[in-house]
Amino acid sequence: MRTLETDYLVVGAGAMGMAFTDALVDHADVHVTLVDRRHAAGGHWQDAYPFVQLHQASVFYGVASTVLGSGAVQTAGPEAGLQERARRSEVLAYFDDVLFRRLSGSGRVTFLGGYEYRQEGADHLATSLVSGETLRIDIRRRVVDATYLSPTIPATTPPPFGVADGVDVVAVNDLARLAVAPSRYVIAGSGKTATDAIIWLLANGVPADQIIWIRPRDPWMLNRAVVQPDPVVALTLAADTMAAAASAESLDDLFLRLEAAGVMLRIDPEVSPTMAKTPTLGAWELDLLRTIENVVRLGHIKHVTSGEIVLEGGAVPLPAGALVVHCAASGLQYPPLVPIWAPDKIRLQTIRVGFPCFCAALAGYVEATRDDDTERNRLCPPNTLPDSPSSWAEMQVRGTVAARTYGAETDIAAWANSCALNPARIEPSQRDDPAVTAAAARLGDVVEPGIVRMAELAGLPGPR
Ligand SMILES: Cc1cc2nc3c(=O)[nH]c(=O)nc-3n(C[C@H](O)[C@H](O)[C@H](O)COP(=O)(O)OP(=O)(O)OC[C@H]3O[C@@H](n4cnc5c(N)ncnc54)[C@H](O)[C@@H]3O)c2cc1C
Repeated sequence: MRTLETDYLVVGAGAMGMAFTDALVDHADVHVTLVDRRHAAGGHWQDAYPFVQLHQASVFYGVASTVLGSGAVQTAGPEAGLQERARRSEVLAYFDDVLFRRLSGSGRVTFLGGYEYRQEGADHLATSLVSGETLRIDIRRRVVDATYLSPTIPATTPPPFGVADGVDVVAVNDLARLAVAPSRYVIAGSGKTATDAIIWLLANGVPADQIIWIRPRDPWMLNRAVVQPDPVVALTLAADTMAAAASAESLDDLFLRLEAAGVMLRIDPEVSPTMAKTPTLGAWELDLLRTIENVVRLGHIKHVTSGEIVLEGGAVPLPAGALVVHCAASGLQYPPLVPIWAPDKIRLQTIRVGFPCFCAALAGYVEATRDDDTERNRLCPPNTLPDSPSSWAEMQVRGTVAARTYGAETDIAAWANSCALNPARIEPSQRDDPAVTAAAARLGDVVEPGIVRMAELAGLPGPR
């Protein structure tokens, strides 16, 4: 068996594996082997539906060394005034360029594309899915698991409900491959994929009354206008969040206060959402989503027959000629929170609130610049991803404490303030801007009562 020697083996060339590797090789003289069963970088974006876009500004996504996109503000269209958001094709071209020109091109990163990784006892093995050859990887330093938060997507995950023979159920990707228009579209799912599918159908001229939306849970979503790469916007979002928490009587009340502050959006003002994965949404998208009147709220689908959709809470007819669109993969994953640095491997997780790319890059920087795992874990505690109002509040508490901890280190603060992936970035030249200092002062006034109350609402012990 051929053996390949390396300092680090990073399993997964998705956004997190790429961001970690990029920051690591920028700050340490090491060799990294990056392995992925896919043949190119970008992870789930390789199989995403063709009309997907980042839901956030492009500059917040990718790797620390290389900005994704031009950092431009949109000047036309419904999002004029907001930062550009890359489409799938741009995300893939970006990762391709970073991998092959910057990382592999440096000679310090070897990419094993189309290789399945597995561990057998003490052996780390990678088998080519093309030639069948298995390589043994001799690792001088660490194994990095960049698959721990790998999302599930409809293209690679079957629908989570039964489908009778002869019923038309397709993954969302197939919407862009239809040969004949169906009589109705039945959108199954409540998350970003479902909202993207509906907006795309409406943009393609499908009348709103031809769309049936199976919405098991109503979602809270973040107003895209308050998640922008601008320190005043970021500080105002943090202050609004903490002010709402400080006065909130309950989790529901917290989200209602955030809605009143223009931070959170919901589709139906009559319904209290129970889902809070909180992708960002544009005001124009909210207007379009509200045109769908045929909404089924009977829980999750159990199975679909040729004549009806059977759900947890009842059944509705499936019109003849209708196409059921699977948008029901869970997306974000919620594995147990474990220390990022463990004796066997590094398990990449989020650290601050959201922004997986920044968190993976931070872990790469900390791996390169600290030599003790206890200290690395102190600086970078793992965070949860949000699913419900309660886990959203938990994420705020954990992320705020983490950002304080790593932000207290002079070198990390300087690195983070130079990193475009960081939504809390304040460049030195912006620090004395009166609008920035006013927003920071407002945050300073509300952060303590806010975080203490947020922890109570999340059922966590008080923040330390
Ligand atoms: C539709 C969609 C849109 C999103 N938009 C945004 C956004 O705008 N902003 C944002 O911050 N986040 C966004 N996210 C979330 C974010 O993209 C993900 O959290 C992050 O990109 C996940 O990347 P990852 O590297 O953890 O996982 P993945 O992209 O899944 O990469 C993991 C890789 O590991 C490989 N792998 C797994 N096991 C093995 C093995 N045994 N051997 C070899 N290879 C293996 C897989 O092939 C895969 O390529 C979005 C997510 C989705 C689904």
